[in-house]
Amino acid sequence: MDPILERYQALEDRIRTYNPTVDTQRLFDAFSFADNAHSGQLRKSGEPYIIHPLAVAEIVAELELDTDSIVAALLHDVIEDTGATHEDIAKRFGEPVALLVEGVTKLTKMQYTSKEEEQMENLRKMFMAMSRDIRVILIKICDRLHNMRTMEYQSAKKQREKALETMEIYAPIAHRLGMQRIKWELEDTSLKYLDPVGYQEIADELTARSSAHEEFLASIQTRIQTRMEEESIRCKVYGRVKHTYSIYRKMYAQNKTLDEIFDLYAFRVIVSDVPTCYYVLGCIHDMFNPVLGRFKDYISTPKPNGYQSLHTTVIGREGIPFEVQIRTEEMHNTAEYGIAAHWKYKQGMGDQNLGTEEAFEWVRKLLESQQDADPDEFMSTLKVDMFADEVFVFTPQGDVKSLPAGATPIDFAYSIHSAVGNRMTGAKVNGRIVPFETALKSGDIVEVITSKTAHGPSRDWLKLCKSNEARNKIRQWFKKERREENIATGRASFEAELKHQGLTLAQITEEGVLPGLLKKSRFGTLDELYNAIGYGGVSAVKTVARFRDELIRLDKAAADKLSAEKLISAEKVIMPSSAADSAPRPHLPKRSQSGIVVEGLDNCLVKFAKCCTPVPGDPVVGFITRGFGVSVHRSDCPNALVENRKPDEAGRWIKVDWVEGDLPGYQTALDLSAKDRDGLTLDVAMALSAAKVKVNSLSAKAMPDGYAMVSVVVEVRDRDELVNVVNKLSQIQSVYQVKRSVG
Ligand code: MN
Repeated sequence: MDPILERYQALEDRIRTYNPTVDTQRLFDAFSFADNAHSGQLRKSGEPYIIHPLAVAEIVAELELDTDSIVAALLHDVIEDTGATHEDIAKRFGEPVALLVEGVTKLTKMQYTSKEEEQMENLRKMFMAMSRDIRVILIKICDRLHNMRTMEYQSAKKQREKALETMEIYAPIAHRLGMQRIKWELEDTSLKYLDPVGYQEIADELTARSSAHEEFLASIQTRIQTRMEEESIRCKVYGRVKHTYSIYRKMYAQNKTLDEIFDLYAFRVIVSDVPTCYYVLGCIHDMFNPVLGRFKDYISTPKPNGYQSLHTTVIGREGIPFEVQIRTEEMHNTAEYGIAAHWKYKQGMGDQNLGTEEAFEWVRKLLESQQDADPDEFMSTLKVDMFADEVFVFTPQGDVKSLPAGATPIDFAYSIHSAVGNRMTGAKVNGRIVPFETALKSGDIVEVITSKTAHGPSRDWLKLCKSNEARNKIRQWFKKERREENIATGRASFEAELKHQGLTLAQITEEGVLPGLLKKSRFGTLDELYNAIGYGGVSAVKTVARFRDELIRLDKAAADKLSAEKLISAEKVIMPSSAADSAPRPHLPKRSQSGIVVEGLDNCLVKFAKCCTPVPGDPVVGFITRGFGVSVHRSDCPNALVENRKPDEAGRWIKVDWVEGDLPGYQTALDLSAKDRDGLTLDVAMALSAAKVKVNSLSAKAMPDGYAMVSVVVEVRDRDELVNVVNKLSQIQSVYQVKRSVG
């Protein structure tokens, strides 16, 4: 029989061991199709090309994958290397197989260049993200394994390239998917080409001492087996020398010779259930001396890739340390074949903890949701978006950029540099010009077309981009490039908001206040603040509210200082003391028409409150009215007392002070309390006349119990004159109190 046909037959037999009802006609059909398509092609080894797909299918069958995977493995190179198309395959073997073959082809076409670790991780993710179907990765890994096994026929350059790629991409992915056995072989074959001398050294030494190794392995294996029989435990025991690359890594990382490598040997005891694992551990520790600190329980705490086992290192009579790994059959299969093993064992693994690593987590979820599916159906539904929220694309230089799913060329451009984004005038994906809103796909090669005369981003771009990075950089551009525009619009909305919240710009810009306010708002100048409001970086409403609160705080601090001053109280005269000198305000103007200056407001309209009629010398405070300027109250006016102020108007109370003014006199009202008698009003009028005070009004009214109240409005220059008037009035017979009128 033809040796190739014979090999195919062996493959079929192997598949039947785990899938007795496999459709052999379909398998043979695939084999014939591939054989025809590749006919005449030879491998570098001189063998017919069909040997390669056949060998890949063998490895896939080792993983005991479903029929579609085997068929796809047989066909995996026909699109790439022969005239066959997706449609041809779909028609003959079904769309699912065609998709698998196309997936493998895509990965084959992907170009890798060795990069720093961060880039490598992105490449690995891209590799997985591009596959969409886990079987594509598994077939591709098997393909690479066979290529590595037959790498000796390739050129030295290609050997090195492929070995590096295998070490950086394929072995880590195999590890991540928990495929230990394949990972080791990928690492060992890569090492052979990456450091031929180092590899050979280890290989030679291992060979030279192989008989010693064999002897040691056999003796330990027998001892463990004997003990297990005594304990009536059914188990399998294997011993091996650890794989070359792990020895190599230990030698170089720890700068040790082969003799100094601590644990060169590893034994496995495979038992039926978890409690037995721990029992066997006890037996092993009883037989040999455990090395302290080397016991690891990956059963209770699995590795992120789902690996489970008990590990311990012990030393036997010979003084040679060795590792013992104890696990169940199921854990063993998971360790050897990783993800590929899971679908076989999915029954009864519902509550197993498989770790939380991203790539594995989704497999776990998937397995949970696939409890009742039959194996073939299960594998074919194993199509998931890996890294569904990320997309990985290439720069023209071969760097990988990770972007959020749905990202557009705009995101890509800004991920390179803000200058690239700001100057972008167009974009190419895989060599073709595309619109800016094109969603990028993993594996795309993206190129940005820039121009020095570009007008910068458009506001629409904010809607087209998916990454915060791009969005921030576009906002940043508007912030800088449109500064003047931003300042103007920012200032307008700021001033409108001031008005709305009952403040004036003057209150904000007062020299003692502004720096503090700006500091609170984290802007150096008002223009910067306006600019930020203009481009939408901060809100005018919030800023003004914050400023207002700060003004209230400052005002309250000043008011507290004022009310701390004691009021004079004479026996008959109750008047507040002058506190004007208690708070020097050197920056205020020296005079004003009204005799009042308002802090921060020059030449503003001032009127004197009718309720308390202040005169120069009275401690005063101002209130910003709506549209009628500043109303000046005495600080002790009930309407002005801090505790009586309405909270929502608190920000409108401001500092005012007396200065020299142009007014000849100030009206103020006095109330006289007296025992009512004939001629009281006349006496008051006479006294005022004698004091040469201008009287604007005078009225009297009778009170209960024979008392009377006389109210006068006089005009005085200042508080001193008023005190004089009050004294004169107090001396009038039957007057027992003269008070400044309030309210
Ligand atoms: Mn191939």
